[in-house]
Amino acid sequence: MRSSLKPSNAIMTGGSDVAEPASLSCASCGKPAQLQCPKCVQLKLPRETAAFCTQDCFKASWSSHKSVHLKAKPSEPGTGTPDNEGWLYCLKKGQARTPKLPYFDWTGTLRPYPISSKRIVPAHIDLPDWAADGTPKVEPNSDLQYVVEIKKPEQIERMRETCLIARKVLDKAASVIRPGITTDEIDRVVHEATIAEGGYPSPLNYHFFPKSCCTSVNEVICHGIPDARKLEDGDIVNVDVTVYYKGVHSDLNETYFVGNVDEESQRLVQSTYECLEKAISIVKPGMRFREVGEVINRNATMSGFSVAKSYCGHGIGELFHCAPNIPHYARNKAVGVMKAGQTFTIEPMINAGVWRDRMWPDGWTDVTADGKRSAQFEHTLLVTETGVEVLTARLPSSPKVFPWLNA
Ligand SMILES: [Zn+2]
Ligand SMILES: [Zn+2]
Repeated sequence: MRSSLKPSNAIMTGGSDVAEPASLSCASCGKPAQLQCPKCVQLKLPRETAAFCTQDCFKASWSSHKSVHLKAKPSEPGTGTPDNEGWLYCLKKGQARTPKLPYFDWTGTLRPYPISSKRIVPAHIDLPDWAADGTPKVEPNSDLQYVVEIKKPEQIERMRETCLIARKVLDKAASVIRPGITTDEIDRVVHEATIAEGGYPSPLNYHFFPKSCCTSVNEVICHGIPDARKLEDGDIVNVDVTVYYKGVHSDLNETYFVGNVDEESQRLVQSTYECLEKAISIVKPGMRFREVGEVINRNATMSGFSVAKSYCGHGIGELFHCAPNIPHYARNKAVGVMKAGQTFTIEPMINAGVWRDRMWPDGWTDVTADGKRSAQFEHTLLVTETGVEVLTARLPSSPKVFPWLNA
């Protein structure tokens, strides 16, 4: 729960019930104010009291400002404040909560919905170092951010086990997708299936991410937060699962059809699947990492689609994200060649329209700049002496949800 001793970030003014921001001046320094103290907004205090010019000014004046909150009438029990009802709309990685839709120039028709409270992880599950406080400590400071690790047979064996769990978990999620289910329910399925296998859902509290998987609907390129929105007939939804088990991570995702999907979206999802398959087919010792992007770009542009550039494939093992960095676009500057014993992901995000992206105010949800749809597929791979082993490969039991695989 957020401590009342510290300010959360002030929120941008905006929305239909807020007057011209230019008419307000900062309660601390008098400069024109664009931000409002979220606590004042929640307590419905006068807007002049709540206005601040910058986050810095807001934070600097917090020790004197907070006393104005005491002048407000206590809220009715049961009316629900952000502090006692868990996540509403997630703003900036766990720092602020708002009961209102934040102002944003939304690129498509999708909007954020309320996010449920954090799910419980039983005591017997091994935790990565961010589980308790949201901050990875080993990962950012590791040499493996620069050096691509050659895994020992014992590490590879653990990777195989964890990857198999992630595959089973994703297959469970795939089997419940239908119109009417919320992405929060998909998150519950992923969370419970991961724990039932003895694993930890790596995204949970990673840099304060509030849920156990990512669910990216329609124009969301990646890192959508599972929430209370019900999937609608005709949507596409990517589910991205990462499992931590026996000290190693495995990462995979797939994009699914919800009910009856239009032809263009079907073409987008199939083309994205093929981009990943074609990229995997070149993986072998001696291959340059930068070639992956060439293959993906060629396949995507042939179908009239574009390649998202902001997120890349990554090394994986004892760390969730490490070297190598593998861009999916053409003419990238990735250095180095593949060697047997390396494990990494390839995870192309392919857009129906432009490649450019925008970030939602929650600091996670990345959407296409033109609001058109985006699809993604991801596998965790091992470079072998002769080629590649797809550690997260589909199983004979995997749901038959992709028509092009059933022929
Ligand atoms: Zn992933
Ligand atoms: Zn990944």
